[in-house]
Amino acid sequence: MKYSYLFLTISIFVFSCSSKKTSNNFEDFDPMNFRGSDRVETLLSNMTLEDKIGEMTQITLEFMCQNDSEGKRIEPHTLDSSKVSKVINEFKVGSILNCAGHSYSPEHWQKLVGQIQQESIKSKGIPVLYGVDAIHGATYTYGAPLGPQQIALAATWDTSIVRGLSTETSKEVWGCGIPWNFSPVLDMGRDPRWPRFWETFGEDVKLVSDMGESMVKGYQEGPIPFAATLKHFLGYSTPWSGKDRTPAYIPERQLREIFLPPFQKSVDAGALSVMINSGEINGIPTHINKFILTDLLRSEMGFEGVAVTDWEDIKYLFSRHKVAENYKDAIKLTIDAGVDMSMVPLDLKFPVLLKELVEEGEISEDRINLSVRRILTMKEKLGLLDSEGGIMPALLTEDERNIAEELTLIAAKECITLLKNENDVLPLSNDQILVTGPTANSQNALNGGWSGTWQGRNPVYNNPGRLTPYEALSNNLEQVEFVELKSMDFSLAEIKTVVSNIKSSNPETVILFLGEMPYTEVVGNIDDLTLQENQIELVKAVKSTGVKTVGVFIEGRPRSFHEIEPLLDGVVMAYLPGEFGGIAISEVLTGKFNPCGRLPFTWPKHPSSHVTYDRKYTENVHSDFSMNAFDPQYEFGFGLNYSPVKTNSLKLIDGNKHHLGDSIRVEVDLENIGNRTSTEVVMLYSQDLVASVTPSVDKLKAYKRVSLEPGEIKHVTLCFSSNDLGFIDQNLNYIVEPGLFNLRVKDQIASISIIH
Ligand code: BGC
Repeated sequence: MKYSYLFLTISIFVFSCSSKKTSNNFEDFDPMNFRGSDRVETLLSNMTLEDKIGEMTQITLEFMCQNDSEGKRIEPHTLDSSKVSKVINEFKVGSILNCAGHSYSPEHWQKLVGQIQQESIKSKGIPVLYGVDAIHGATYTYGAPLGPQQIALAATWDTSIVRGLSTETSKEVWGCGIPWNFSPVLDMGRDPRWPRFWETFGEDVKLVSDMGESMVKGYQEGPIPFAATLKHFLGYSTPWSGKDRTPAYIPERQLREIFLPPFQKSVDAGALSVMINSGEINGIPTHINKFILTDLLRSEMGFEGVAVTDWEDIKYLFSRHKVAENYKDAIKLTIDAGVDMSMVPLDLKFPVLLKELVEEGEISEDRINLSVRRILTMKEKLGLLDSEGGIMPALLTEDERNIAEELTLIAAKECITLLKNENDVLPLSNDQILVTGPTANSQNALNGGWSGTWQGRNPVYNNPGRLTPYEALSNNLEQVEFVELKSMDFSLAEIKTVVSNIKSSNPETVILFLGEMPYTEVVGNIDDLTLQENQIELVKAVKSTGVKTVGVFIEGRPRSFHEIEPLLDGVVMAYLPGEFGGIAISEVLTGKFNPCGRLPFTWPKHPSSHVTYDRKYTENVHSDFSMNAFDPQYEFGFGLNYSPVKTNSLKLIDGNKHHLGDSIRVEVDLENIGNRTSTEVVMLYSQDLVASVTPSVDKLKAYKRVSLEPGEIKHVTLCFSSNDLGFIDQNLNYIVEPGLFNLRVKDQIASISIIH
């Protein structure tokens, strides 16, 4: 029953108009009896229990570094050979992760990783599996270009650039001797309060699924062997409180319909590993949830790769979640649930306790073998079992770096989203402008978290020579006055200085750089989604002078600002565009680049009433009983160009009656009614008019980026499968019900009926 459900689900999410499904053969697949290659099986049969448990253990680099007499890490970070020996020789640890606090040059990476690999090969003949969080470019590699964060990439609606960038990242990271990336994040970005919202591809199931698959293919199908990690499986991103790693309550129907499909698509694309959700769903921490980690992930979804815990999460089961009495119990629960590797990462108790559990008969050696097979198979796929496995690759050449930088700049430009442009306040003329705001002159604000350091706040690790928005604008325009605000906590006195500067220099336009400074995980928890009060006061004060005012948001989540939105003549969302964001923003503001980004999320107007675009009809009901309650600041998919593109008509190419499995093609007439070349993102939504489970008002089914010359008319075909018109029914099966559906592009609508 579950297999047939799965078969349908797979066919639903893999279908495209040009290619048929290529999913696993589930009839033959038994993930619990997974066998490795002959090489893997031979290796396994020669391993002691300690060897095997070592393979399941992951330790952080920090644990093996030399410290000074006060316990502080020596700079530059250097390995302590006795600690390395303990980890590798004594405990046979099979995996190491991350840096010891900040980025290194590729040469330094090679030195550190090379030393560990030599030790590992000498000790057990197998290199360690080294993993790192290179989530927007090579996060921890000094000199490597840092690209837009995932939320910004999603705003490009351009899967090919995502794939290209990921391949460049894989080359950078591989060049450091590291073959495993803890990326992409496939969590759904449906609650902007959550401090990891910016690590997601936004709120829509299809967009997140497509972007995720492109990232996985970019990492894994490039010129070098490299592994992606799908994280954080499953349902991590919508904690009830909005705060990181706090309880989520997600009904299984929703889990399957909204949270699971992106993971399924990337599992089908061959992703080699997943990382587990650190939180809990419906009272069960995911790390002990056998239903999610085994029944769903393995038996239903067909995942054959490695499941790694998140940071210290087995310990948290007893220290925070309180579902285990002690560490040993917690380990048993986690291994029973289906975890293969523990990101321990700061001590060596895990292998000791796991060994005891096996010796006491609490965990079978067969169960251990299953995980070790998966880990060795991943090592084999990454070439680590070959004779040259573990030998450091050649460093990246300058030409290769240049290609990566060019692509990163293109992506930064493509993501910038113009949201408001009253009286054509943008693009700027060559008249004088005044630039201010807390994010105007910060490279760190552009990059966001996981940039040089975990929180991305230390400017010491920024790549030299990258321009902030203020610097880039000064390069592009002749008359730029800058009033610096010292920090995010700028004072009323500083606002007064801004106002007096405006009065004395009388600029044509003021550009206010608003938003947030970097954060991630728990550190980014907030109590209120509203933009900080001093920024609201700044906008009011500037506008009170009567000057034309443009707000540029550099931030990882849409902070609500409805009170001051009417005061802004122009609004630009730059997200976290990465280190070329300064240039990209400046080119958009000055008109060198015609913006084409589109919101990958709904921007809430009010902090306490956030509803995603794929809402239910009841969420339209207003307190005045009209159906106008859905009133976000800006809608999902919204974005302007300097040269508007009109959608003139929508035609059904194959008529209005379709059977299950048919592809449905729609032709849309677009017209560029302005005087510049514009890139439009055409989005096709379906509306299920009646269903046995309350339908969404709109659901994205297809999209396409289209470039149009001034005055050009283009006929664009969009296509999807009628199989995609389904939902998870009351019995938790994916079904497509017969009946009427509307298909919508902007205000153009056509109806079709699905016949069984
Ligand atoms: C994060 C993961 C990350 C891991 C390793 C955790 O705190 O939740 O996303 O991959 O650390 O750095």
